[in-house]
Amino acid sequence: EQQEFIGREAVAAKRKQYFYPCTVHFYKNSPQLVRGSMQFVYDELGKEYTDFFAGVSVVACGHCNPAITSRTIAQLQQLQHTTTVYLTQPSVDLAERLAELLPGDLRRTFFVNSGSEANEGALLLARMHTGRKGFIALESGLHGRTNLTMSVTGLPMWRTDKYLDEDVAFIERAYQPGLTLEEAATQSLQSLERVLKEKGNTIAAMIVEPIQGNGGMIMPVSWYFREVKALLNQYGVLLIADEIQTGFGRTGVMFAMEHFDVVPDIISMAKALGNGVPVAAFATSDEIALSLNRPSASTFGGNPVSAATALAVLDYIRDEHLPERAAQLGDRLKAGLKSLQERYPVLIADVRGTGLMLGMELIGTGTSDAALLTDYVLEEMKDRGYLIGKNGINRNVLAFQPPLIITAADIDGMITVLNEVLLQASADVRK
Ligand code: PMP
Repeated sequence: EQQEFIGREAVAAKRKQYFYPCTVHFYKNSPQLVRGSMQFVYDELGKEYTDFFAGVSVVACGHCNPAITSRTIAQLQQLQHTTTVYLTQPSVDLAERLAELLPGDLRRTFFVNSGSEANEGALLLARMHTGRKGFIALESGLHGRTNLTMSVTGLPMWRTDKYLDEDVAFIERAYQPGLTLEEAATQSLQSLERVLKEKGNTIAAMIVEPIQGNGGMIMPVSWYFREVKALLNQYGVLLIADEIQTGFGRTGVMFAMEHFDVVPDIISMAKALGNGVPVAAFATSDEIALSLNRPSASTFGGNPVSAATALAVLDYIRDEHLPERAAQLGDRLKAGLKSLQERYPVLIADVRGTGLMLGMELIGTGTSDAALLTDYVLEEMKDRGYLIGKNGINRNVLAFQPPLIITAADIDGMITVLNEVLLQASADVRK
């Protein structure tokens, strides 16, 4: 039976009454989304929105893509769930496919259900492998909302400081306003070296996002992670790459660590792997995998429905050449955003990122601070039919991470409309 649409006011009222008050949302007047089709979503009034956010990089293959949902549905109707004590084929096929795609000798996969859980597993694995407890993380990183993953999360907004694990050393990220990327990377490496000299023999792993998503689309200079890995190796500290937002083609390559020519010791994956169905994993080498030497099982990890979906996702990414597509269309989108930066230097501080993971940092002007301007642009874009995201330490970075099946025409259309909104904003600034 079809669900009756009760309207956005009623949905908002229920949300206000029954959800925890802390639940984050973007809009003053939020549409009630009721349907999705590839790069589009529709509200209860039938209004179409082009999705430039993809649920934070999740729906990389498009909303309700029939090439994927048909296989999810077929699996749902054949065998929905068992436990891992039995043999089922979808999860082993998926592990095999991931082993083919992952870099270096990373060919053991443990399946879980969310990004937080994947990082939690990766962090525990690093502790068990090294026999050490401490971690190093980057300021403004985000790794999840479980105790351990929140403890290595640098972004203040996503931490509850008082209750967290204190055995974490944060170092400066390789991007600082006023410094070149080279200078910032050098500075970050110096802090890393200081921490390692002081207590490297107590540190299990360093966890990083190759390109920080929630931190504001921060991509270090190409040699940075090579130097990081070399330093960590000297102290026997593992490198965990959190590819939860960057993985599966988003940045123009399958895994973003490829941009840096570095093979981490452990990779965590989630989001795009299920295209909207929960599936996540952490992968490592045969040798490190042995260290997880206690019985381990996940009720839903690797269930046949999630695994069949992820296999369909990987087929689609391969058949449609989505990483190459992300690289090409990302160049087009970035050029469009850069042209707006030239036109509105008083509003736009920076355009950065790579592939279809791009950010536009806005500047606070006059009475309007940068976060307010960001909210204004988000709301105006939504009213004009475009969903974009926001992130950054100061919540003033517009985030563009559309489904990888977005078209050149969608991008050009969005840039035209974003130009109108920024023109309006700059007129308001002059007043
Ligand atoms: N790592 C990164 C880089 C993320 O962006 C996120 C979610 N935004 C997470 C981890 C946590 O994933 P989840 O919400 O699935 O637990």
